[in-house]
Amino acid sequence: MIVKLAKSYGFCFGVKRAIEIAEQHKNSATMGPLIHNQKEISRLKENFNVDLYENISDVKKNDTVIIRTHGITKNDLQTLKKHDAKVINATCPFVTTPQQIVKHMSNENYSVVIFGDEEHPEVKGVKSYGDDVHVVKSVSDLKNLTLKHDRIATVAQTTKQKDHYAEIISALMIKHKEVRVFNTICDATFENQAAADELSKQVDIMIVIGGKNSSNTKQLFYICEANIKTYHIEDENELDKKWFNGKTTCGVTAGASTPDWIIKNVCNAVEIIDA
Ligand code: SF4
Repeated sequence: MIVKLAKSYGFCFGVKRAIEIAEQHKNSATMGPLIHNQKEISRLKENFNVDLYENISDVKKNDTVIIRTHGITKNDLQTLKKHDAKVINATCPFVTTPQQIVKHMSNENYSVVIFGDEEHPEVKGVKSYGDDVHVVKSVSDLKNLTLKHDRIATVAQTTKQKDHYAEIISALMIKHKEVRVFNTICDATFENQAAADELSKQVDIMIVIGGKNSSNTKQLFYICEANIKTYHIEDENELDKKWFNGKTTCGVTAGASTPDWIIKNVCNAVEIIDA
């Protein structure tokens, strides 16, 4: 198989930064998974003894606790500080920005609408910084909103697609006089998405590599799947030779939490497939 990599793929600035921070703090623990990639989390545990705490109650006095790229809620941060833990903040600066916007706009008496997935840790964290904050996944969710203020501010989960965010904004503007829009969608995600779209129009099959629970990997999958048959895998062990029957060129991209060593393994395994 001929393997073509997307022009932009894999680790983004925020994830690279979080991993470097974790590597610099041996014998620490992360609050929730540092990034959405189990294999990288295992590597940090094996090589740097960086543990994973699932709950705040796991934290012991004087622990060094690293906050993951997606951030945590304001309450959890306060609780950590109360536990006398040494807090190392690896929240991506592009996630800190919407947290600050929500805090500021709430203080200015705006109702805040977040375009995102209610259960996503990043959204839970961002939401916790305001008073009247509502999360919507689609335009239809706007019907059920009861907003406290006439003035609206909007932010988006960093991994969302810009055109979907624009639909939410348009719908809000039809009903409300003042809508302040903050484009908090991360360019790293956008660059990976644009490159995936471009490449998936030029190949016979696409492979998207990343954690099964990684939101930005799933977005890449949907974008590619709209153009060509696409498979979402976590590593080379999930490849199935049957997928490649009659195909010549395979495109490869990877989510923002996928380490280069996994991408390399997949490319090497696909290259030797005789379709
Ligand atoms: S995708 Fe963007 S927002 Fe998310 S961690 Fe990477 S750089 Fe930060």
